[in-house]
Amino acid sequence: MILEKYSFGIGDRFCHQGKAQLAAIMKAKEQGLNITPVWNKSNREHTIIGTKPADTRKEALDAVKALHWDGPYYVDADHIGMGNVDRFIESSDFFTLDVADFIGRPADKADVDYFVKKHSKFIGPLAIDGIESTIEITEERISVIADKFLLAVRQAGEIYRHIAEAKGAGSFITEVSMDETDQPQTPVEMLFILAAIADEGIPAQTIAPKFTGRFNKGVDYVGNVSAFAKEFEEDLAVVAFATKEFGLPGDLKLSIHSGSDKFSIYHPIAKALKKFDAGLHVKTAGTTWLEELIGLAMAAPDGLTIAKEVYAKALDRFGELCGPYATVIDIDTAELPTIDQVQAWDGMSFASALRHDQSCEQYNPHLRQLLHVGYKIAAQMGTRFTNALKKHEDIIAQNVAENIYQRHIKPVFMEGP
Ligand SMILES: [Zn+2]
Repeated sequence: MILEKYSFGIGDRFCHQGKAQLAAIMKAKEQGLNITPVWNKSNREHTIIGTKPADTRKEALDAVKALHWDGPYYVDADHIGMGNVDRFIESSDFFTLDVADFIGRPADKADVDYFVKKHSKFIGPLAIDGIESTIEITEERISVIADKFLLAVRQAGEIYRHIAEAKGAGSFITEVSMDETDQPQTPVEMLFILAAIADEGIPAQTIAPKFTGRFNKGVDYVGNVSAFAKEFEEDLAVVAFATKEFGLPGDLKLSIHSGSDKFSIYHPIAKALKKFDAGLHVKTAGTTWLEELIGLAMAAPDGLTIAKEVYAKALDRFGELCGPYATVIDIDTAELPTIDQVQAWDGMSFASALRHDQSCEQYNPHLRQLLHVGYKIAAQMGTRFTNALKKHEDIIAQNVAENIYQRHIKPVFMEGP
């Protein structure tokens, strides 16, 4: 099973927007751009919403049938670990092995020494195509990297073999993710992580590192864009080098977990992909849920009532909702509108505050982040919420498809530098 050059992770919390999401991918296809859709959903999302991996598979299947999509597509068990992989085995054919928790746990000294010895040919100045200056590799540096990452890669190997045993090797796509940690991985670390992945026999087709800068939920990138661009290009260079050097799958590519929307780095990403003729997997989650709220807000009066209620309850339960996401949100509570202020809004005002259009004066990134992590409120509304999604399907679908096509696919894959 080979993942195509460009693929797009369309996370969908409530499993209602599969068709609208696929419509965005099909619009790109009409323009001559092939993107493989991947429906991703994590165990945490399934647990909070009360869905099962089989629901995501059904959503994908229904969308593919309804829109007569004849291209490839996948269902991604997103950010799974040994503790929860089993419930995903049957319904998924794409597995994102999250081993971030194992980073930094010291590895066995004998394993580290063996790794250093095995890769000692890199000691000295190392030139990699696409990276300007040579990299100085020392025995000490390899040893420090091995000590920090070997255990995480071993863990990925364990999960991979567990899935392969159940499903059969070659019948699913493997992604290794290390993004949910506090420190970014440098390109040099990436080189030896890939060496370890190859040593472990994991046929990884995508790897999701943690990049420089903040990837807050639902809002734009916060950080130094040119530092990101340099790091991203160096990562692409390392991936190309490592693929040949270690015999990793030829389609190995980077995966960016966008935390929904990272518009200001999309342009440097597009430029780098062209420069290296590289593939990419962009994984979004949550951006569609926010478009559902926008669509509901535009569907006054009942849809708007629900959207306002979600906000009021989210504000009320701020600590509970934001706690688990503390490291990936940055909300200034002074910038959040009061419940009374929002009560007075019409649908347009709600939609404009929430929609990720930075050129719009009403856009409020604090409100957007809070609502991003507030999907639990909608989940607890049960069928009242999902019935509203069905009732206002048209206007919601328009927002969902437009968001994915205009604000994500176009800038990353279609607009030239
Ligand atoms: Zn991630």
